Amino acid sequence: MAFGQPRIEFKNNAQMRTMHEAGLVLSQALDAAAAAAAPGVTTKHLDDVFAAVLSDAGAKSNFLGYHGFPATICTSVNDEVVHGIPGGRVLQDGDIISIDGGAIVNGWHSDSARTVIVGTADPEDQRLSDVTQAAMWRGIAALATGTHVGDIGAAIDDYVSSVPGKPLGILEDYVGHGIGSEMHMAPDVLNYRTNHRGPKIKPGLCLAIEPMLVRGGIETAVLEDDWTVVTTDGKRSCQWEHSVAVHDKGIWVLSAPDGGAEHLVPLGVTPVPIP
Ligand code: MG
Ligand code: MG
Repeated sequence: MAFGQPRIEFKNNAQMRTMHEAGLVLSQALDAAAAAAAPGVTTKHLDDVFAAVLSDAGAKSNFLGYHGFPATICTSVNDEVVHGIPGGRVLQDGDIISIDGGAIVNGWHSDSARTVIVGTADPEDQRLSDVTQAAMWRGIAALATGTHVGDIGAAIDDYVSSVPGKPLGILEDYVGHGIGSEMHMAPDVLNYRTNHRGPKIKPGLCLAIEPMLVRGGIETAVLEDDWTVVTTDGKRSCQWEHSVAVHDKGIWVLSAPDGGAEHLVPLGVTPVPIP
């Protein structure tokens, strides 16, 4: 099945520990950017806040200059799904914004995103964000309990379709990915169930797991800036993402200070630090 597909880069423990360092800097930078997201603040300000944390830590941005991307984070507001460019847009009360960033330490990458609702949350937006985040954690748990990468998308899909109330859509145009000496590597990590089981889960596999959910249809379009992806029906969207390592003793969420314990233990998975 791997015929013609790029090889997966399997990492040793030392390499994964360096990725963890990159993930911890990233987590702090996202904390700062998320805390700064408030009505009246520009998305450019969030980029400045994020960039300052990376710079203070001596880490580099993997977003800045990536295929010409001009900032250290993507800020995607409301109907913007992913890849929004920080700029003069002023956040309004009730906006839902996903902040996606990454950091490099000694050549090893991390990638993580979270969604923030600015000021007063529309309950349906809050639900969208809560379900997307919970879906991400189920996908991460499946990396620990599953045998193949396809188990992640199956777990995300099964969870999202089991949530009572108005159905939410899972985007298919954008997917998670392997990560390591580059930000985007093999394999693709789909957020939905397919007939393909995908590659085997083995120690040294590091993945960015990033479900993107929408309140409406899953069709997307790219704006004239050649970056910003929007829903074609204008409905709101949401993204959560973590970088996760598989090692021979278990999994560890590289971009969460507790390795993901708070959210994984209730799902029956106890993260184990990289030996
Ligand atoms: Mg990302
Ligand atoms: Mg990613």
